[in-house]
Amino acid sequence: MEIVTGVHQLRIPFPEGIERLTNAYVIEGNRGSILVDCGWDSSEAIWAFREQLRVERLAFEDINWIVVTHVHPDHFGMAAKLRELCGAKIVMHRADAELIRSRYVDYRSLAEETEKMLLAHGVPADEAARMRAASAWGAQYVTAVEPDVVVEDGDTISNGTFQMEVLHTPGHTPGHLCLYDPRKRRLFCGDIVLFDAMPHVGANPQSGKDPVAEYKSSLEYVSERLVSFVFPGHGPVFNSLGIRSEELRRLLETRQRQILAVLDEGLKDAYQVTRVLYRGVDASDAAYEDLHARERRAGVTEVIAWLRHLDACGKIATLDQNGRTVYLAK
Ligand SMILES: [Zn+2]
Ligand SMILES: [Zn+2]
Repeated sequence: MEIVTGVHQLRIPFPEGIERLTNAYVIEGNRGSILVDCGWDSSEAIWAFREQLRVERLAFEDINWIVVTHVHPDHFGMAAKLRELCGAKIVMHRADAELIRSRYVDYRSLAEETEKMLLAHGVPADEAARMRAASAWGAQYVTAVEPDVVVEDGDTISNGTFQMEVLHTPGHTPGHLCLYDPRKRRLFCGDIVLFDAMPHVGANPQSGKDPVAEYKSSLEYVSERLVSFVFPGHGPVFNSLGIRSEELRRLLETRQRQILAVLDEGLKDAYQVTRVLYRGVDASDAAYEDLHARERRAGVTEVIAWLRHLDACGKIATLDQNGRTVYLAK
């Protein structure tokens, strides 16, 4: 669908019938097209990509640049295949490019470190093992490839018609980037600002020390821009960046209050905090029990990131109890 002149949205399905889509965007210019994000590497994703290009009367060979907003499989997975089909160059931020090998090629040691981190935060051994297996699942839908060009904040990418600035926006991943055209006021923002969901911000062995603080700064950084259209990695395109950023700030404050309230009940590890937070959703453990291991891991890693953040802000204290990390209200 051509959403505004020169910007086509392609909706790429997740694998194995998961009911989610990645938005990819083809940005046409008088010196070729820029593709922003790719989708997972699966046969249905390739088929959907090819079919939507045909409907939009776009051609693979017109795409010169494949910009990957971040290293997650739903944005990066198909980049290698599309590079072959387009003859384009893959562009990523340096900090996420550095994570490709350890996430998708030699992923065993990262999976082990993640499992160790989860165990130290109170996740029971059988559940931590299932969460670890969930990491390997993602790698099968990614063809790992090094980018042709690595970029940093302030670099520019142009196709003649659109002059895009690279904004480094860490938090969701260390090397997440957005593309911003100040003249046309278009923002391609990956998973940093979504219209209908709170972007995931979690701790893992590769995340920065305080991804929640990074995410808050990134949100400020993009919301300072004059923007007429926001093109996110999932969900609807929207134009109210200021209002949505403010809503996300409030949601972050609510999350902070919820976690502090759980610790007011007494000392807990991250796993225990997660269980209480999910019970808050429907007054039983069912909400948590029903989750897939991937989603449970996302829940626990989000809570770990928050607890580290609250500790860094001096709002709570951290203790080591025989190898188990526990947190307490101050
Ligand atoms: Zn993501
Ligand atoms: Zn995503």
